[in-house]
Amino acid sequence: MCYSIPGRVVEVAGRTAVVDYFGERRNVLNELRNVNPGDYVYAQGGFVVQVMPEEEAKDVLELWREAFFKLQRLDEETVKNAGVEKVSEGFSRIIGKAKAGGLEREDILQLLDTTNPKELSFLYSSANRVRHESLKNSCCVHGIIEFSNHCGNNCLYCGIREGNSTLPRYRMSVEEIVEAAAEAVNVHGFRALVLQSGEDDWYTPEILAQIIRGIKERCGVLLFMSVGTRDLDCYREMYEAGARGVLLRFETSNPRLYSKMHAGSKSTLKDRIKTIEYAVKLGFVVATGSLIGLPGQTKEDIANDILLTKSLKAEMYSFGPFIPSPQTPLADAPAPEVDTVLKALAVSRLADPQAKILVTTALEALGGDCRRRGLLTGGNSLMVNLTPLSHRRYYSIYPGHSNSSDTEDQIKETLKLLYSLGRAPTDLGVKANA
Ligand code: SAH
Repeated sequence: MCYSIPGRVVEVAGRTAVVDYFGERRNVLNELRNVNPGDYVYAQGGFVVQVMPEEEAKDVLELWREAFFKLQRLDEETVKNAGVEKVSEGFSRIIGKAKAGGLEREDILQLLDTTNPKELSFLYSSANRVRHESLKNSCCVHGIIEFSNHCGNNCLYCGIREGNSTLPRYRMSVEEIVEAAAEAVNVHGFRALVLQSGEDDWYTPEILAQIIRGIKERCGVLLFMSVGTRDLDCYREMYEAGARGVLLRFETSNPRLYSKMHAGSKSTLKDRIKTIEYAVKLGFVVATGSLIGLPGQTKEDIANDILLTKSLKAEMYSFGPFIPSPQTPLADAPAPEVDTVLKALAVSRLADPQAKILVTTALEALGGDCRRRGLLTGGNSLMVNLTPLSHRRYYSIYPGHSNSSDTEDQIKETLKLLYSLGRAPTDLGVKANA
């Protein structure tokens, strides 16, 4: 079965269009010429990435029709059948406030504070319900290609930090990156890709633009760039070359913790936030967030991280656990509890019902069923690692990061998980409030 679902354009007004998936409608941005009502398209991350010949689209849709409604029903049942725990009136009132769109900082803190199993279960199933009510069963699946593990930074937590002299380093050539991306799209059916690297100035803005243009010439795809704090002009050049997404975490919203974690770094938290704001201003779809469980991080910090992500107008929340990495100064620090991370996902969902919330690979590293648990706690986005296997194990930001399965096996596993929960790989559109 084809792995992402095309939609039918029902309305076009300037730069926006409405796309229909078996009756589910999403607002998307369109920059392709000649997109008209009635056309069939692939949309990703809220962008139309490809117009499809009608016959081909109808064939794919025919394959999906029955499965789509079955999945929708399964998702509905999963939400409906989740046991509703009895919790205190105060706790249940906060969740009610969230559903009405009025979650305040104090409420967030109270939710993050709970360790009571009944309250946790209530929080998670409420977040899953809000996800279902806001965005139905859509789930986006992005591929990630980690094209260089060279890094000029020395983040205390990161396994590819410059100071790790034991790590063999690699850099993919422009041709190699373009080829890997074209294969991901044209052979495996990905429509959204993240190109990530350490902070590696070898890739000048011109080279990054060359990579983006090379890929865009070969395939219709939404490209997210994840290359760290670079000059604002570099972001402008990447946008002009055709990239439309940026994945750039601020890592922590606490300036003191940030300076501690990035001692000796060229850039500050302010620089990083300025870059994120600039990317939003340029028109990029932005994914951002923080590391959960950094040594010294408090609940107040996590609450501020969620509120900062929202105020930055991020389309996608990317929160994942800190995993201690050998050969780093934090090798012996503890990883956070799974619940600490799940609470951050659930509260993000309640704070921003329309958001895309990523279930990160780092969360999977905390335990076998964490990907599933993340999807049942408000998450609706996943990533599949497409870095060529010969390089993958050297992109060792933390242990267990690099899944060693090949692309087909990862797709199969991901689809199996999505189907078991009633999720469909349709586009989530742009946020209604964007
Ligand atoms: N150079 C890019 C990409 C960095 S690596 C940038 O600066 O944005 C991608 C992400 O991996 C980082 O944003 C960081 O949050 C995460 N990461 C690094 N080390 C980690 C660790 N030990 N545990 C979990 N996540 C980690």
